[in-house]
Amino acid sequence: MPAPRGLPICKFGRKYKRMAKKQFKAESKRLLDLMINSIYTHREIFLREIISNASDAIDKLAYKALTDQNVGLDRDDFRIRVVLDKDARTVTVSDNGIGMSREDMEENLGVIAHSGSFKFKSELESAEDVDIIGQFGVGFYSAFMVSDKVTVISKAYGAEQAYRWESSGADGYTVTECEKDAVGTDVIMHLKADTEEERYSEFLETWRIKELIKKYSDYVRFPIRMDVEHTEYVETGEEDEHGHKKTEPVTHTEEETVNSMVPIWQRSKAEATDEKCVEFYKDRFHDSEDPVAVIRVNAEGLTSYRALLFIPAKAPYDFYSRDYKPGLALYSSGVMIMESCADLLPECFRFVRGVVDSPDLSLNISREILQHDRQLKVIAGNLENKIKSELLKLMTDDAGKYDTFWAAFGRQIKYGLVGDYGMKRDLLKDLLKFYSSNEEKLTSLKDYVSRMPESQKYIYYAAADSLRTAAGLPQNEQVKAKGYELLYLIEDIDEFAVQVLMNYDGKELRSVAAGDLGLETEEEKKEQDETAGKSRELLDFMKETLKDDVVDVKLSNSLVSSAVCMSYEGEITLEMERYFRQMPGEAGEKIRARRVLELNPAHPVFASLTAAFEQDKDKAAKIALVLCAQAKLLAGIPVEDLSAYSEAVCALI
Ligand code: ADP
Repeated sequence: MPAPRGLPICKFGRKYKRMAKKQFKAESKRLLDLMINSIYTHREIFLREIISNASDAIDKLAYKALTDQNVGLDRDDFRIRVVLDKDARTVTVSDNGIGMSREDMEENLGVIAHSGSFKFKSELESAEDVDIIGQFGVGFYSAFMVSDKVTVISKAYGAEQAYRWESSGADGYTVTECEKDAVGTDVIMHLKADTEEERYSEFLETWRIKELIKKYSDYVRFPIRMDVEHTEYVETGEEDEHGHKKTEPVTHTEEETVNSMVPIWQRSKAEATDEKCVEFYKDRFHDSEDPVAVIRVNAEGLTSYRALLFIPAKAPYDFYSRDYKPGLALYSSGVMIMESCADLLPECFRFVRGVVDSPDLSLNISREILQHDRQLKVIAGNLENKIKSELLKLMTDDAGKYDTFWAAFGRQIKYGLVGDYGMKRDLLKDLLKFYSSNEEKLTSLKDYVSRMPESQKYIYYAAADSLRTAAGLPQNEQVKAKGYELLYLIEDIDEFAVQVLMNYDGKELRSVAAGDLGLETEEEKKEQDETAGKSRELLDFMKETLKDDVVDVKLSNSLVSSAVCMSYEGEITLEMERYFRQMPGEAGEKIRARRVLELNPAHPVFASLTAAFEQDKDKAAKIALVLCAQAKLLAGIPVEDLSAYSEAVCALI
């Protein structure tokens, strides 16, 4: 999203040009209003947000410093400073990170920049409770929860000129040139005046700010330094009337590091509890919901690394679009190498978020070479297996949570199965879940197979675009009559996935619409062949009449109470046809299933049809048309020539 370029400069005199107030983007303004006016109880998170931005900015420059001598800073030189000024009522957070240019300020501070913003916006509109603020990483704007004015002074790495961004809230902001020696950013928050309900002055107390840093920013990997007053009692050299040495208090100020700097993924499970990891996840990855699983890996050996991974409960709004950036944050001994390294995750698990830290990765290699790094490949391979086993564990331990995951990312798993020529088939087949006719809920293939009676040859499924249509397919009846379970496949990707899978545990998957269901005995088959022989002429007549719609007309062996159904021959199923029809271009126009109309010889309609065929061919043709349309409707296929259909129905009535 391009940033607003502000007001047209030429309209204003030179004097005004620099000071003209620029407007925030609409959505940013709304968020800002909310921040300013919130009666929000967790205002204290502003500090976490501002410190986390400082830490990100340092990450960026620290990475540059690895390969660029000109940065002139060692890893040990990076730090964040928090300064409290009681007289000026300001809290200042300074960093010596990458800094911001004028454009950066306009783009990043004039709009809600972070990835969660869109989702945030939509939730904001419906929210009655402003508590959602606490659940999102709302970032920079949270400064306005405690400040009536925010000043940002920054000098970008490599720039000569520094800039001052300033805003008193929703009426806009200014950007002006200013002086600043070192590269980095100072965020100066001018605290609001205390009210009866709110004591903003608490944020000017050293102990309070220290407490907040410990609580929210302890894991930040750079030192957060503060001036802390220490009082010592020094002997004066005199004695009191009891002969005790006299002392007097002497206060001196010392800069100290407040945070422990050990990142959460480097801590033991006892210290970094699930709860803390979840908090870290929500903050870092801008998610309002708890993840369904927290995965910890501590691998030692040829390649040592630690990983802290999360399986989100909900797909981000852009997950199925090109905008979504998959990958894990990659660190080497606490230095961030990449914010999202896509090579660490296979495509099928692109929803996983988290962090990988390995001391074995060479820091000085470029990001391009990293892609081919052997160590990285080893880690990626291990993580792939770990993620799978954790998902399987979730499936058995907590089906409810698994189904939440499945609703969000099942589609991705199925895409993963179909992609790469089915290479991930074995990795993913156990993770699949489909709706079961017997269980009336999702079931895994493993569970389905475990319930199969010995007589059942295939895993049966009915595919359609809704549960209702799938459950209503006429062909289901015979399968159900045998007491066999059906899977209902209702996503467009499902049949592709099933075709790639072919079989599970040695059992072939078969669509009820695929003709031969392997249900009848040899004797029954023979009988059917005989009936078909007798009706040969009728079937040929039907086939000729319906040649634009179907490739064949057959007597069915899978119908019980329905008169007709639609099935297909060959590779392209009826559902696939529907899928391709939505696609623009050649595929959409040309890819068609080879449809077969099946008639139930035991149904009274068949007798009427036979009678008409013998006495009145014209009537028989109309019946053929109506039956074909009916079969289409039952299969969820649109009837295209509605007027011909309607005429035929009227004529017959
Ligand atoms: P987020 O951090 O989630 O992207 P914020 O609203 O907190 O969203 O910050 C917006 C952007 O402003 C950041 O992405 C970053 O580009 C920039 N920014 C904020 N603070 C700093 C800082 N201290 N140094 C450099 N850039 C910063």
